[in-house]
Amino acid sequence: MLLLLWLWQSAIVQYSYKTIPYSEFKEYLAKHEVAEVVIKETVIEGKIQPKAVASPARKAKAKASRATNAPSGPSSTAQAAPASSKPLLFRTNRVKDPKLVDELEAAGVKFSGEPPSFFSEFLLSWIVPLGIMVLLWMFISRRLGSAGESILSFGKSKARLVAEKETGISFRDVAGCEEAKYELQEVVDFLKHPGRHRSIGASIPKGVLLIGPPGTGKTLLAKAVAGEAHVPFFSLSGSDFVEMFVGVGAARVRDLFQQAKAKAPCIVFIDELDAIGRQRGVHVGAVNDEREQTLNQLLVEMDGFSANAGVIVLAATNRPDVLDRAILRPGRFDRQVVVDAPDIDGREAILKVHARGKPLDNEVDLRRIAQATPGFSGADLANALNEAALLAARRHATMIGQQDLEEAVEKVVAGPERRSRRLKEEEKRRVAYHETGHALVAAYSEHADPIHKISIIPRGRAALGYTLQLPTDDQFLMTRSQLLERIRGMLGGRAAEEVIFHEVTTGAENDLEHATALARQMVCVFGMSDTVGLARCAHRQNGIFMPGADGAFQRDCSEQTAQEVDQEVKRILDEAYREAKEILTGHRDQLELVARELLQKETLDAPAFERLLGRPPGRKEREVPGRPVELAPPALALGERSQNGHAE
Ligand code: ADP
Ligand code: MG
Ligand code: ZN
Repeated sequence: MLLLLWLWQSAIVQYSYKTIPYSEFKEYLAKHEVAEVVIKETVIEGKIQPKAVASPARKAKAKASRATNAPSGPSSTAQAAPASSKPLLFRTNRVKDPKLVDELEAAGVKFSGEPPSFFSEFLLSWIVPLGIMVLLWMFISRRLGSAGESILSFGKSKARLVAEKETGISFRDVAGCEEAKYELQEVVDFLKHPGRHRSIGASIPKGVLLIGPPGTGKTLLAKAVAGEAHVPFFSLSGSDFVEMFVGVGAARVRDLFQQAKAKAPCIVFIDELDAIGRQRGVHVGAVNDEREQTLNQLLVEMDGFSANAGVIVLAATNRPDVLDRAILRPGRFDRQVVVDAPDIDGREAILKVHARGKPLDNEVDLRRIAQATPGFSGADLANALNEAALLAARRHATMIGQQDLEEAVEKVVAGPERRSRRLKEEEKRRVAYHETGHALVAAYSEHADPIHKISIIPRGRAALGYTLQLPTDDQFLMTRSQLLERIRGMLGGRAAEEVIFHEVTTGAENDLEHATALARQMVCVFGMSDTVGLARCAHRQNGIFMPGADGAFQRDCSEQTAQEVDQEVKRILDEAYREAKEILTGHRDQLELVARELLQKETLDAPAFERLLGRPPGRKEREVPGRPVELAPPALALGERSQNGHAE
């Protein structure tokens, strides 16, 4: 519309005013033909009143034309004549001309000035820039979209209110952690029937902290509580508090507790508490500042002066060692519930939970699978069952069979088979002897876990072959001779290579790594060396529930002790290696026999192995059910876990 208006105006001006050059204007002025003038900011407008008397030239021409009486001659004179009598409105661009006023006065022209119009000035200096800014702002805010909105509400808590039945998970879906369930059931009861507990003077606990390694069902338990408790349940994760801006976390905590108090009695669940609950003051920097403020606010809210009647805080973490001491003291998280890796009964129960809704063959024996999976967490078991279902689907079966389950467990432990990795015949031979070495040394050790399977089919990322040993039962303590025998078994592969080929390969790298780590642990942590003594000279770098690399121990002793430790480790390894070689040289015929059979068949199970050794199969029959504790590379994860267990 503005554009139209402007075009319209300029068109009018164009028609009514004749635009002439400044010089012409001055000519008219000199001829005294200018009647009046308005001097504006940039233009001069005015009226020209041509003199009635025509110029001599024109008169001459006019006479001539009359004289000749020539009708022809569309001369300019004819046109100029009428124009000269009419006043002409003109406009010209103003030129800097200081003497103009003098000349106008001299010519006796009526002239006036005109200030720039108020309206146009206002429009130009205020409305237009403002308009541009508003447009720009609108454009930007549209581009930012929802982000713009969230920036404005960043102090709001992100907690999600979980409706009673929304999670669809109840305590029935959690197995193998009865103590934790019991504690939480009590909390739920408290919220449901506060009167019953209060009448005997029990006060409601403020916080319950679930501690345990990853995948043991902490988050699942919290969801189950949400499903069980018929009270509002706020759920959020520790990292939700941490934001770019310092102070946001604290604001969110405040907001969360405000919401919670309004809905009391209710449960607030903070997952991965270690994201905010870390020890204060150990790091420097702005990030830490923010976390400290958040944590402080949480502490204040948890035991604030105002009674948080009926707000119970549940939290879960797998790094209790990094938590701030203040958060663990009674009055905040008074209850700490350890959700540890399940034992054999727990594993069976978890398998049963996850087998629900899956068609299992009648022959399936979940107890045997539970036996075969020491150190598995609930998540591992769920994963294994899913793998089994996938394997069954792959062979177009309608039921999941025991074979699928065992294969799945092996896959979870050792990684998928890689039949496409072609080994040269010579390499294959070496691998076969290496694995047989492990198996034989273990078979001739009194305390070693029974062999379950030997294979030279490559698996996972690195393993070219593997030997699975599995304990007959969960074991929580290990004796010194058991550890020594375990080290001996790990070195059996390398020993076999040396005994047979008189030449060693790189294949034992992983065995050596684990054997060394175990020996070092014996010396430094378990106090099992006579020369070094009982003093603990290393400490764990990672939390107790975080199975890190084997070497995640930090030296904590003098230079001299460190040397002694090194010597001891070397001695233990040397001795174990010597013994392993002795065993293998003593049973060289069996070594050859088993290795040849293995080369041919690629895998040997326990009965076949026992038969080759000429042992009565009955002895091992009992133990067939078990499974992994391995020596080959994939074993890593499991070995780790069971070691942690023993350490405790
Ligand atoms: P985390 O302890 O790390 O929070 P989760 O609770 O997220 O572990 O567990 C991951 C998955 O593992 C669950 O969704 C569930 O399927 C399975 N799981 C873990 N522990 C159990 C258990 N005790 N009973 C049944 N399922 C479990
Ligand atoms: Mg979790
Ligand atoms: Zn090996």
